[in-house]
Amino acid sequence: MAQQPDQLPKAEVSNADTSTSKPKAPKAAKAPIGAKLNSEPNDLSKPQPAPKAAKAPKAKKKAKDDDDLDLLADLEFDLAADQLIGDENPTQSTLSISADPAFDNHKAGFVSIVGKPNAGKSTLMNQLIGEKLSIITSRAQTTRHRIFGLLNGEDFQIVYSDTPGVIQPKYELHRSMMRFVNASLEDADLVLFVTDLFEDFDETDVIEKLKRVEVPVFLLINKIDLAKTPDQVEERIAIWKERLQTELVVPISALLGQGTASLFDEIIKRLPNHPPYFPKEDLTDRSERFFASEIIREKLLTNYRKEVPYSCEVIVQDFKERGDDMLYIRADILVERSSQRAIIIGHQGEALKKVGVQARADMETFFGKKVYLETHVKVEPDWRNKANKLKYFGYSS
Ligand code: GDP
Ligand code: MG
Repeated sequence: MAQQPDQLPKAEVSNADTSTSKPKAPKAAKAPIGAKLNSEPNDLSKPQPAPKAAKAPKAKKKAKDDDDLDLLADLEFDLAADQLIGDENPTQSTLSISADPAFDNHKAGFVSIVGKPNAGKSTLMNQLIGEKLSIITSRAQTTRHRIFGLLNGEDFQIVYSDTPGVIQPKYELHRSMMRFVNASLEDADLVLFVTDLFEDFDETDVIEKLKRVEVPVFLLINKIDLAKTPDQVEERIAIWKERLQTELVVPISALLGQGTASLFDEIIKRLPNHPPYFPKEDLTDRSERFFASEIIREKLLTNYRKEVPYSCEVIVQDFKERGDDMLYIRADILVERSSQRAIIIGHQGEALKKVGVQARADMETFFGKKVYLETHVKVEPDWRNKANKLKYFGYSS
């Protein structure tokens, strides 16, 4: 890869380890992630079509093919091209960035991570970026939104896109989640299809869809650290090679970072020459509020059973700096029924208190500041099925 440190303005020198061009391992001594996020107001009230300004021409080209806009999980609606693009004047910003000769040898592209729930998509993205951006739990459907995570080098920018798992939608919420998955296939330069050693991937429509994706697809067989024998991995590779021809099959352990460094090399090779889509100092397109709400949602998922956490949405209503090193965060936890409200709060408020203590601790690490966290539980009947509510929460694209 061409190095051009002299040509780059200081702000664009990345925080990635470009000397080796390898993704960084999670770092201990480093500014908290939250310090680098954009602080725009309520991210959840505003869907994030994100880098579509620069990406629009490609999305538009693909959108012509109605077939390609079929939904992954057999959904009954179509995506309009505009929904994918979401920018009235896309070419302008593309041209203004491309005009900079400093980026002639620069690679940039969108890498979408797709697969079934629990395959390890979020773990992989965090491993590739070296930061905990996506929430990870052992429960299915933890990731509801499409989350961009950026890995920046002096001469490259990879925009990873972590997506919700491919599921058969039961609620309007699920349909919105699948729209994120579809959008991420439409504008990708490369697709990482994550499966694991044990998964019985029976959804042939997804496989058919992947066969028709125009960009390279890598098939990743994750969780190889759990293999009892090397043969087990070989068998999986053989099975998958019969089902789906992909550019590359890579056995990995997203959890332990096995195979992820060579994966990075293979990804970089296939990215097009393109100026960066985001400022180089950015780590993600998401705002501080988004991460604050995700941290609370993670604690809901780990502290409550069954359906309860899936019925919750977290809205950060207030996010204010208090002095130099204190944040005041006020969040509403929305539930669908008053019985769920009682469960979330618990006996004498004990359950909610635990969520608050755990969330606050994570937020303090993430933002690098003391956090005063206030949470309220509110009933919003049937919010998962209400299109207007979902739009407000940022799910409609
Ligand atoms: P997602 O739903 O596809 O985003 O999956 P997650 O990244 O949330 O991971 C689901 C579960 O699998 C979590 O408990 C992870 O810790 C676990 N996991 C992910 N990758 C690996 C891996 O390589 N090895 C092992 N043993 N567990 C993994
Ligand atoms: Mg996930």
